[in-house]
Amino acid sequence: MAYTCPHCGAPSISAIAKWLSGNVRFANCAACGGFSHVRSTTARQCSAAGLATGAVGVLAFALGGLHPAWLWTALGAALGVYLLAWHLVALEPDDEGGWKLGRDWLFSLLGLGLLGVWWWGRWG
Ligand SMILES: [Zn+2]
Repeated sequence: MAYTCPHCGAPSISAIAKWLSGNVRFANCAACGGFSHVRSTTARQCSAAGLATGAVGVLAFALGGLHPAWLWTALGAALGVYLLAWHLVALEPDDEGGWKLGRDWLFSLLGLGLLGVWWWGRWG
């Protein structure tokens, strides 16, 4: 899976480079050398979408008699929505400048997963 460079239009940005560009560093186009990134506000929206889905899923897990299947469905749905959101958002040229921090949201998602595992271990 490759994404289009906003500078030259070449499909040169890998999925992982796109994801990193919203969290860690700019993506670098192999064809033209241009830098691009996913805007930090956009990256946060991806995380928020995943977290919201996970929250609904955990609620369903709690209300659904704590059956593990609900938990895995919740985590799977959260991850799926998160990745889909990342797939859909646009890369932008780096002329906006500025760095981005989506990592706090990523850790929140991880925390949610760990909470779920702990919860399952407690009741399972
Ligand atoms: Zn390019």
